[in-house]
Amino acid sequence: MRKVEALIVGGGPVGLSMACALADAGIASTVLESASERELADPAEDGREIALTHRGMAILQQLGAWQDLPPQAISPLCQARVFNGRASDSLHFADARSDLGALVPNHWLRHIAWLGVQRRPLVQLRCEARVVALSLDSAAATLMLADGARLSAPLVIAADSRFSALRRLAGIGAEMRDFGRSVLLARIEHEQPHQDQALECFHHGHTMAWLPLGGVSPKLSSLVLTLPTDQAELQRGWSEGQWLDWVQQHSQNRLGALKLAGPRHHYPLVATYAHRFAARRFALVGDAAVGMHPVTAHGYNFGLYGVQRLAAELAGSRYSLGADAPLQRYATGHRRDTWPIYQGTNAVVKLFTDERRPARLLRQGVLRLAQALPPLKAAIAQQLTARPGGLRA
Ligand SMILES: Cc1cc2nc3c(=O)[nH]c(=O)nc-3n(C[C@H](O)[C@H](O)[C@H](O)COP(=O)(O)OP(=O)(O)OC[C@H]3O[C@@H](n4cnc5c(N)ncnc54)[C@H](O)[C@@H]3O)c2cc1C
Repeated sequence: MRKVEALIVGGGPVGLSMACALADAGIASTVLESASERELADPAEDGREIALTHRGMAILQQLGAWQDLPPQAISPLCQARVFNGRASDSLHFADARSDLGALVPNHWLRHIAWLGVQRRPLVQLRCEARVVALSLDSAAATLMLADGARLSAPLVIAADSRFSALRRLAGIGAEMRDFGRSVLLARIEHEQPHQDQALECFHHGHTMAWLPLGGVSPKLSSLVLTLPTDQAELQRGWSEGQWLDWVQQHSQNRLGALKLAGPRHHYPLVATYAHRFAARRFALVGDAAVGMHPVTAHGYNFGLYGVQRLAAELAGSRYSLGADAPLQRYATGHRRDTWPIYQGTNAVVKLFTDERRPARLLRQGVLRLAQALPPLKAAIAQQLTARPGGLRA
């Protein structure tokens, strides 16, 4: 193996994809991950069904990762409908080519990222290696592991989650937004077919999103229930039967009779946006750079956009790795890609979780306006699916 040119902290789906993209550009890296190799090779199901944009899928195809997915792991997303409260009118998105994107379980995305690393001799994966200290100087970037080992390279890339310790160690602050809400997720079988349509229902006090899992069954969806955290904690204490009764009562019978088809999972909702994406000999990617609220389904997609952009910048400056200019160009480009959607997502969350009457009326007005104005709707969908043009009402 060649001399290590980049150290990547975090073997999540973004860190491993970063290593693959660098290898494809001829750059050798070592990935340091605190979990065991078994957890990376065979990740446990975590309930997350990741909606991928067209740009996200294209990047996975370029990395050769998409081709590793079995058909049942890919669920097409052909339509989406957004409802406000109990109002029956909705905002409807459909793609002229019947393809808004696709849903893939997160554990599959993690597995294919690990497989990609196995195929690339330029990547070394070091598991059960927790990074505890960082030093960045003009000569090199150096990491210290919990076991006392030290590693140096021209560049460190941090992909160590939205609560990134490396970000802090590099002296980079972040905006952190705790929404005071949590999501409960579960796979649910239903009587009516989903027709590959996602439903996003903004009710008073909670939000229910139904993500169609057509790769597995035309009558299986993932329910993403967003609640104030105290309510979510209460519901976590309920038996499966009690919880399903509540879901059935609040589903407005949109999918008919419901049956729980898997374990329930829980995530608190916190968004983060790093003040900078790069420093001397250092770059942030994935959730460590931008950790999104999942309502617009962009976190992992942004991770992939960042991987592609940073790899392209570094490929162009292979012989001066760690130099400032390419890192700054990456930072500027990634901010341009992510900042408008990060702000837009937070504004949507604010508007659709405000229970006061003026806000309820405003969101009904926003949905009606967008439904009545096809160019506005097409512009929103284009942002969300990262595909140019092609949407019909
Ligand atoms: C409920 C939910 C739904 C979502 N839905 C979507 C969606 O539809 N579409 C979408 O695009 N995104 C979605 N996301 C976001 C997506 O899951 C994340 O953006 C993505 O998983 C981030 O990957 P990552 O590799 O950056 O970070 P992580 O997956 O958090 O990986 C970080 C890794 O770093 C390791 N690590 C941390 N600290 C250290 C250390 N000091 N030393 C060594 N290793 C360390 C950790 O062990 C971990 O393996 C969703 C998220 C949630 C919670």
